[in-house]
Amino acid sequence: MSKNVLIRTFGCQMNVYDSQVAAGLLEKAGYQVFFEGDNSGEEENLEKNNSGKADIVLMNTCSVRDHAENRVWGRLGMLGIEKKKNPDLIIGLMGCMVEEHREKLFKRFPQLDLMIGTRNIKELPQLIRQIQEKRQQVSRIKQDGVSIEYSEFTKRESGFHAWLPIMTGCDKVCTFCIVPKTRGHEVSMSARDVCSEAKRLVEDGVKWITLLGQNVNSYDGGHVSFPQLLGQLCEIDGLERLSFTTSHPQDATEELFQSIARNPKIGRRLHLPLQSGSDKILKRMKRLHTYGEYKTRIERLRELVPDISITTDIIVGFSGESDEDYQATKRALEEIRFDGAFIYKYSVRPGTPASNLPDDVSQTIKAHRNNELLKVQRQVMREKNEMLLGKTFSVFVESLNPENPKERIGRTDQDKRVYFESKEADLGSFVKVRLTDLRHETFRGEKV
Ligand code: SF4
Repeated sequence: MSKNVLIRTFGCQMNVYDSQVAAGLLEKAGYQVFFEGDNSGEEENLEKNNSGKADIVLMNTCSVRDHAENRVWGRLGMLGIEKKKNPDLIIGLMGCMVEEHREKLFKRFPQLDLMIGTRNIKELPQLIRQIQEKRQQVSRIKQDGVSIEYSEFTKRESGFHAWLPIMTGCDKVCTFCIVPKTRGHEVSMSARDVCSEAKRLVEDGVKWITLLGQNVNSYDGGHVSFPQLLGQLCEIDGLERLSFTTSHPQDATEELFQSIARNPKIGRRLHLPLQSGSDKILKRMKRLHTYGEYKTRIERLRELVPDISITTDIIVGFSGESDEDYQATKRALEEIRFDGAFIYKYSVRPGTPASNLPDDVSQTIKAHRNNELLKVQRQVMREKNEMLLGKTFSVFVESLNPENPKERIGRTDQDKRVYFESKEADLGSFVKVRLTDLRHETFRGEKV
């Protein structure tokens, strides 16, 4: 029987979690699983090198941007060539591209053996067995129900940190976004299930949990709101840090801010996508708030939690974005001074409401705006990070530096990465570190 499985994950942390569940289930069924890359970069060389070792290649896919889809199409082409040399190779797709394109991909890519939906991951070992026995294309794509599988066999990358999905889907209708189509309506896990899974993780040695959902703020777990859920989780003994992603500005409420302010266990970082600083574009995107409303919420949060780090997403070149609209976004970055920003060029996603709007900003202008905003943001971050030098932070120690075993790698409450030397192991604990140096966006520090 084929034994080696390579899993490549594209896209968001929800996919990272699903890949970990898939890997755990496959290992339990006797396969050896290895992950490829860290889903963050352009690792085409890695992609070319690793498939050769695998009997089964699974790609957990993302539909949010065309770039992520293009990489999967390209990889499928390469795997098709490999399969001609090795007809026993099994190629499978998981994730949002499966939900979006469904079985029609079998025709376009005859080399594809398996399509498995986000709600069917539990069936993965059995479906692979079926392919091995019958050598036929197999798909399983359930359309309803919860797409979260809590599993004690999840193959986590860290013994101390765990992802914990609490809801999936989205009932917002942002016109550029494919998520409501691929992940469906919002479905929340019950607060009881979330808390008991969190307790199980803590008993297993986890100290830091990151809650996941397309819009965690609209969590509705049987009359328990998201801030109430945070309160319940903070009461778990042994859980030392709690963070969450992602939030929609409309649901980032006073109650949530108060909850962060009250609970020191909640990480001091909020990722709150702004997307544009122009009210005209926000309206065209159906973001349900104005720039002024967004800014007022940030000011209130900073008043209640002065050490909060706020990061965001920005799209440049959305349909109808004039130079004036773009300048408003640039001004927003300068005014709000985010601690980090993911800045993307708009790409039309077929099937979204915005796909009916003209894609009327040229690639050249999109690239220019993107580069200019990246420059503005880098400058803001440099200035803000330099102000942290000399200060002492509580740092959660995640790992040893593989390139220098004397060094530890950790994260502050604001999610800033820090390298520092230590004689103790320190792994999985919090230590005090004074920040002494800054290289790009990573700090060096001294344990105090
Ligand atoms: S809030 Fe908007 S951008 Fe976020 S997942 Fe929902 S539809 Fe997409």
